[in-house]
Amino acid sequence: MPSRIIDSPRNVDLSDYDPDDTDGVKHKEADALQAKLEAKLQRQQELLYGAGKQSVLVVLQGMDTAGKDGTIKHVMNGVNPAGCHVWNFKVPTPEELAHDFLWRVHQRTPANGMMAIFNRSHYEDVLVVRVHNLVPKEVWHERYDLINNFEHLLAHNNTIIFKFFLHISKDEQRQRLLAREDDADKAWKLSVADWQERKYWDDYQAAYADALGKCGTHWAPWYIVPANKKWYRNLFILQTLTERLASFEKDWSAELEERGKQELAALHAANVHDET
Ligand code: ADP
Repeated sequence: MPSRIIDSPRNVDLSDYDPDDTDGVKHKEADALQAKLEAKLQRQQELLYGAGKQSVLVVLQGMDTAGKDGTIKHVMNGVNPAGCHVWNFKVPTPEELAHDFLWRVHQRTPANGMMAIFNRSHYEDVLVVRVHNLVPKEVWHERYDLINNFEHLLAHNNTIIFKFFLHISKDEQRQRLLAREDDADKAWKLSVADWQERKYWDDYQAAYADALGKCGTHWAPWYIVPANKKWYRNLFILQTLTERLASFEKDWSAELEERGKQELAALHAANVHDET
């Protein structure tokens, strides 16, 4: 199997990747591992926030029912909401459509110290837009380069970018759609459009393969997440986030320590404690 990390442009064939993979991890080990990784991510986010030198952008893409909402709920469990925004990108409004396709997205990119999660993203403009011919091919085709340049700009401004493609199989999608019909708590998520979009499965897979292959860069890599098993999807994403963020931890801690020393020194010099 080719690498699940796409950090330079190449051809991608999604059928090379097994959505059922768990890389040898057993389901019964998952809870303990997940708790450990959640604690790690929590600590990293605190440091990110305090140091205020970088920001983190997490892009979530996948077919309907692939688990974007579930990922946000489970993976971000424990992350301090004060330092994290979630943005959902839906069918563009008339105002959004009257601007360039990156306009609405750029307004939601994270500030220093912050984490932002994109539930769908600018990639819809080379996915649904391509599959349904919402703009001519000449227009969407240019967008891969525009996206790469845009993400380069963000990375240049110290945004650490993760792009996760939640890879499920067509059969798994069917099971999940049917399960929603049987679950009164989940029925609100049902939509006729989900079954209609499913007819375009192959076109979407081809559009995803191109988006991943053309926009996998070292400054904004794509990760192909085996997502048929929800518990492994969560673990995989947590592992990926914490592993890459670990390389910044030392720097963030040093920054906070230094700032702490300066504040203490200033406090002592100012002699501001009162008697009561
Ligand atoms: P979700 O499926 O993300 O839970 P919705 O059911 O409201 O939420 O779906 C959002 C819809 O918006 C999707 O069908 C998606 O393809 C569509 N969408 C998002 N961005 C664009 C875009 N740029 N152009 C057209 N449609 C878009």
